[in-house]
Amino acid sequence: MTPKPPPIAPLAALEAKIALQRSESALAAAHTEILGASKGQPEAAIEAMIANGLTLYGENRVQDAAAKWPDIKKRHPHIRLHLIGPLQSNKVKDALELFDAIQTVDRVKLADTIAGIRDSGLGIEEKQFYVQVNTGAEPQKAGVLPGEADGLIEYCVKRLGLPVTGLMCVPPADEPSAPHFALLREIALRHGLKELSMGMSGDFETAVRMGSTCVRLGRILFGERD
Ligand SMILES: *Cc1c(COP(=O)(O)O)cnc(C)c1O
Repeated sequence: MTPKPPPIAPLAALEAKIALQRSESALAAAHTEILGASKGQPEAAIEAMIANGLTLYGENRVQDAAAKWPDIKKRHPHIRLHLIGPLQSNKVKDALELFDAIQTVDRVKLADTIAGIRDSGLGIEEKQFYVQVNTGAEPQKAGVLPGEADGLIEYCVKRLGLPVTGLMCVPPADEPSAPHFALLREIALRHGLKELSMGMSGDFETAVRMGSTCVRLGRILFGERD
């Protein structure tokens, strides 16, 4: 017998779940948006989701996004696209041309490269930047270590003048997410950052309760990817 794939919740059902969590929690943010994590999804699946009304998407790799998103954005200029995967310094220019936000700023060198491209005249006033925090301090995972997050955020904002609007995290897969979301929230509060990109298919309800402004949903929205 082949195992049954996990049920895909239609967009409206996910929105209802989010609304319920929001109504029950005093820590919920003023807004919580669904970001469709569309890595590995064909254009047809994304078009179907756009037809359902979802306007925010995230991709993990600059190259993959470059292959499908310029066409989609041409057809749907109101769609916004965020980078949610690690960014190499040599891909920053491509990324800034393609994405409306980079959620994965996690080191000084990357921030310097972004500022350098801005200073060379590429207009980035409309772009948003999130600092990614490796809340579990996992060696293989992207993100600035929690103990170094304050320094990186201050460097980006005060030294470089980058418009950092929020923080992002991907908690360890084998631990409860709540303490990681709480840590991310605490760091954001210290710096007056409004956006908290936290929560995925397995833990978005917890994230919403703890103040997420952006839940990044892949499998539960699109189904399993290849
Ligand atoms: C793939 C991915 C998601 C979505 O994960 P699901 O568990 O499929 O919801 C969210 N955030 C990042 C950074 C991802 O790479």
